[in-house]
Amino acid sequence: MKGDTRYFWIRVFDYSFERDASEKGTLLDEFYLKDVERDEAKKIVRERYCHGTSNEMKFARPKKKDGVYAIVMDSDKYFYDRFYKQIDSYCFSCHIPLKGKASEFPREYIGEGNRWEAVDYDEFDDSDRTAYFCTYDCRADFNRTQRSVDAEGVFQEKEEGRNGTVFGYIYLIYNRTQDEYYIGQTRYLPFFRWQEHVKDGSKGDLSDLSFHVLAEVNRNPKQNDTENQLYLNNIEAWWISKYEHDGYKVKNLMKPRITLQDLKQKFNDMVLKQEELKLEISVP
Ligand SMILES: [Zn+2]
Repeated sequence: MKGDTRYFWIRVFDYSFERDASEKGTLLDEFYLKDVERDEAKKIVRERYCHGTSNEMKFARPKKKDGVYAIVMDSDKYFYDRFYKQIDSYCFSCHIPLKGKASEFPREYIGEGNRWEAVDYDEFDDSDRTAYFCTYDCRADFNRTQRSVDAEGVFQEKEEGRNGTVFGYIYLIYNRTQDEYYIGQTRYLPFFRWQEHVKDGSKGDLSDLSFHVLAEVNRNPKQNDTENQLYLNNIEAWWISKYEHDGYKVKNLMKPRITLQDLKQKFNDMVLKQEELKLEISVP
């Protein structure tokens, strides 16, 4: 594969041995890199942050101790585009205009056969073979007529994730017409919370909203519910602050603050540092 562009998918996790055991930990940052070699990618990950978080950054899950680490995975153009791509298109089902970050819209592969079997991977123009939809309902309508029905969107019972080993979830609601984000937490399986938001209607018209889980937070069995809840609150505050610092319009009325000293330091190293870098670049 000489001359191919290399893509990497980077996810940075806050890992606690007691809380996460054999799982990955809590997602703190996610991005993609392209046109770099693996060693350069790691260097970029380190340089993205500062202080202790940068110096102590591992590229594998810490063994029997706590820490921040990054998973650097090989990726490809499809996923890179999927993460960053902007679209200005129409719902494939009901034809209303769609504009914004492509990853916020439900999609379906409409090319020949299976995407994974598609040859000429780097060549293929994603947009020719991807249908975007305004809502999961519209995608389901399409799938009902085209293919087998998708289980997504089916409302679920109120229950704890993975029989209680998950303490809670941080989720994101995006209002496409307002270009606004709402970030919340829930102790229960997120589709239930989504269902409640849909019923109360305060986040906007359902057809303008998309929903996804930002981070799954495991229960730390060595901590009581109050301590686990404090960590979940802090991770919610993390993602709200991160979206604000990244320049997105965040609609939350309450803006909780990060109170855990350890996470405050990580936020400083991982998010505020980037803001400083951006300012340095923009100053003439
Ligand atoms: Zn539609």
